[in-house]
Amino acid sequence: MQPFTFLTAIDEDAALAAAARATFLAGGTTLVDLMKLHVERPLALVDINALPLTEIAELPDGSLRVGAMVRNSDMARHELIGERYPLLAEALLSGASPQLRNMATTGGNLLQRTRCYYFRDTALPCNKRDPGSGCGAIDGYNRIHAVLGVSDQCIATHPSDMCVALAALDATVHVRGAHHERSIAFSDFHLAPGDHPEREHALQTGELIVSVDIPPLPFARRSTYVKVRDRASYAFALASAAVALDLENGTIREARVALGGVATTPWRSHEAEAALAGRRADPGVYHAAADAALSAAVPRRHNAFKIALAKRTLVRALARAGALA
Ligand code: SF4
Repeated sequence: MQPFTFLTAIDEDAALAAAARATFLAGGTTLVDLMKLHVERPLALVDINALPLTEIAELPDGSLRVGAMVRNSDMARHELIGERYPLLAEALLSGASPQLRNMATTGGNLLQRTRCYYFRDTALPCNKRDPGSGCGAIDGYNRIHAVLGVSDQCIATHPSDMCVALAALDATVHVRGAHHERSIAFSDFHLAPGDHPEREHALQTGELIVSVDIPPLPFARRSTYVKVRDRASYAFALASAAVALDLENGTIREARVALGGVATTPWRSHEAEAALAGRRADPGVYHAAADAALSAAVPRRHNAFKIALAKRTLVRALARAGALA
């Protein structure tokens, strides 16, 4: 491992003062792995685990503000998250293992790196790790790769479960720099690869994620997260769906739909939502919504199965949400 300096920040100002030349270390559940693999080679680390960003607070408008250092396990078990946003609690609890969830933070989860095999092996070409070196996955082994939001530079899948639920909920990410604060709509936070797969998010150098706001969405009480993977636990999604339904007498007034495991970013499906709004909550409508959600999918040699799998996953999630009281 490459030598690096290590600093512990006791407050946000100390963290931000060092941010321009250092990498933040939160739970470390992605970063430390990638440092061991020589994929990440920071010259300096700033440990931000002491920052007091560990609260989940209700705002006057009914939003919940989740501190960036709230651990995934604490968010999943928080009473208001479970009561108001079951899809989010379920997504969190479907991720990784209990030990990892106890370490992983809200801010860190937003910045999770892809599990693409080529990205994690420095002997192989990867435009995300080494811009211009090529993409090993496009003509290589691409079973776990994305079918939505892809480019001819990168087809890496976004790995987070939490982010899929936050995409459906229209969250907002708050960040601080040394001399500014700003808010980023969740839909603008993660970047599709396009011609620059090395750029994964809208954070600027030196910015620190401080919190995530989840707006009130009363019908999210009728919501769920369905995840399909190769084994029942401690595995990334092959396909997942976060769904919330606003139902009245069996008709869908409004829906929220986001997909995971099949796209380069946490994938909000406005196409599926449009196919559901104003329709009866029945299997035919669910299947039509799933067709709409995957209509732009681009399959590769080994991942074409994901299109059918994602449709079935979404149909199952819609049926489950539609059956909730
Ligand atoms: Fe790299 Fe993306 Fe290609 Fe994977 S899919 S090898 S991350 S460029």
